[in-house]
Amino acid sequence: MSNIVQAPVINGEGYQLTQLDKVIGLARSKSLWPLPFATSCCGIAFMATMASTYDLARFGSERPSFSPRQADMLMVMGTIAKKMGPVLRQVYEQMAEPRWVIAVGACATSGGVFDTYSVLQGIDKVIPVDVYVPGCPPRPEQILDGVMKLQELVKNEPMRRRNSPEYKALLASYGIVVN
Ligand code: SF4
Repeated sequence: MSNIVQAPVINGEGYQLTQLDKVIGLARSKSLWPLPFATSCCGIAFMATMASTYDLARFGSERPSFSPRQADMLMVMGTIAKKMGPVLRQVYEQMAEPRWVIAVGACATSGGVFDTYSVLQGIDKVIPVDVYVPGCPPRPEQILDGVMKLQELVKNEPMRRRNSPEYKALLASYGIVVN
């Protein structure tokens, strides 16, 4: 285990000590279950990322969930109309903590080329985002890179972060109340 857990490790005869935070972070990072929220063309790039050539399963994320309660990595792909904003937020709110969000592609990140009255200019107007993947559409390699960046964040996230005043303030800034 000392080869894979990036944490202070104390080895002894028949035992090994490390930090619980690091072990849990490692386990979480290698078993992120995606919830694909795909509205348009970037969703096709996600399908390619799941298929055999790029094989998202190699990263422990082979199980897409269409139930928010059984997913912890919300992947938003495609143009999000302002009318869809409340729906996206409801999906996010239905996910259990800890939950993470990737904005895949220019549209989810910033509205992309659709600088118009009807399109949300980035999903971070309605929910917090952890990783942004650029491109129109991003190649599957870029989506994999985004997942790997998220894995790094997850691996190093302290267990107490979700109960911290800073995290609650972040959610409160989106009008999301934590019980
Ligand atoms: S970023 Fe480009 S490819 Fe992706 S949904 Fe928007 S228009 Fe389509």
